[in-house]
Amino acid sequence: MLPERATCVIAGGGPAGLTAGYLFARAGLDVVVLEKHGDFLRDFRGDTIHPSTMEALGELGLLEAFLALPHQEVRYAEGEIGGERIRFADFTRLSTRCRFIAFIPQWEFLSFMAAQARAYPGFTLAMEAEAVDLVRDGQRIVGVRASTASGPAEIRADLVIAADGRRSTLRRAADLKVVDFGAPMDVLWFKLARRPEDEHAVLGRIEGGQALVMLDRADYWQCALLVRKGSAEAVKAQGLEAFRARVAGLARRSSADEVASLDDVRVLTVAVDRLETWHKPGLLCIGDAAHAMSPIGGVGINLAIQDAIATANLLTRPLRQRRLSEGDLARVQKRRSFPTRATQRLQLAIQNRVIDPVLSASAPLRAPWIARLMQRLPFLQGIPARVVGIGFRPEHVDLEAIDEGSRAVGDARWVE
Ligand SMILES: Cc1cc2nc3c(=O)[nH]c(=O)nc-3n(C[C@H](O)[C@H](O)[C@H](O)COP(=O)(O)OP(=O)(O)OC[C@H]3O[C@@H](n4cnc5c(N)ncnc54)[C@H](O)[C@@H]3O)c2cc1C
Repeated sequence: MLPERATCVIAGGGPAGLTAGYLFARAGLDVVVLEKHGDFLRDFRGDTIHPSTMEALGELGLLEAFLALPHQEVRYAEGEIGGERIRFADFTRLSTRCRFIAFIPQWEFLSFMAAQARAYPGFTLAMEAEAVDLVRDGQRIVGVRASTASGPAEIRADLVIAADGRRSTLRRAADLKVVDFGAPMDVLWFKLARRPEDEHAVLGRIEGGQALVMLDRADYWQCALLVRKGSAEAVKAQGLEAFRARVAGLARRSSADEVASLDDVRVLTVAVDRLETWHKPGLLCIGDAAHAMSPIGGVGINLAIQDAIATANLLTRPLRQRRLSEGDLARVQKRRSFPTRATQRLQLAIQNRVIDPVLSASAPLRAPWIARLMQRLPFLQGIPARVVGIGFRPEHVDLEAIDEGSRAVGDARWVE
């Protein structure tokens, strides 16, 4: 049974929602996380945990357990432009405890955070529980209506957090204004088996008119083919053989026969947007629900987690003392606005100045001068490593605020 009341109810068991849920539960608050799916097995999202997130895990004492999970450590981001191998980022130049990006399927990370949060008695995770609407009392939002496996439910709370992703139901229900920045590309998402001929595989390969990203998942490659916005269905309409040939050419391998059917190729629509105001009395949006990120740089998970940390840092005490005001919620937006804007501005610049011309090009491409300069002056590779690996204004966990109200570790509720 779901509780009828909590200090905080969070819609969405993604990176933002589960991190915020963990932190509030650790702080001794009653928190309910609603996740509409029955499990975390979503194959079509990001796979990267960045040095700044691992720094936060270290502050929380969770890093060792996290690094014990199967993962790949990527110390350099390398790609090929028009056949020329380029190293874009060198994460070993960072001064963080982990000088690499950890590649780990997102469901592993989410299961890990949920397991950590379950140790605290105030934590409830409800799977197959979809937030469908807000509960209001005059101007104030005082809870969430949910559709659960055992029927409709209503949970009242001092704070509702919308962490339900870029198609957020709750931000729509709250009528918050979204600014859409557009994106020139969509992504076709599929798997390739590992083969001995992949020895020289790189993270990304860019050629005139197309680009392929290959994420290492130990026993297979999770691949993303970038195509012009709106053209994904046309690419699929050319048929399976044409698709296999295109992928095999880009991946520099003899065939891509393991793509058994075009039904195995998922189209992901890329969106970049941001709410003008992230909050209303009693409601705060974080993560993709506040700002959908482009997959460029793979920083969406990191930003979502940083939002959750800032939220817990700034709201734990007002929530504990039951004096939460809209001014407190505005402080979270103020804190996270600059990193969000700066990251999106950079992503939009890369989308418009690099991805768009690449996807429009029909002639062979050459690496730009800046990429060549980075090969000659390797210290320059530390700059993108910092931007991607740490980001703008990284958050540190306010352990004093979180741990002063910590309750004894016990068994949390797990509603399935
Ligand atoms: C193709 C693609 C590739 C990407 N690659 C990367 C990458 O490599 N690295 C990276 O850092 N980022 C990547 N991103 C971005 C990243 O996935 C997101 O920015 C990040 O997951 C946002 O986290 P979140 O918790 O805010 O939202 P989400 O991850 O979207 O989580 C939202 C959760 O809420 C649940 N939910 C939705 N609606 C409801 C509801 N009404 N009630 C209850 N639950 C609900 C969903 O099931 C989901 O579990 C990629 C994005 C795309 C599209």
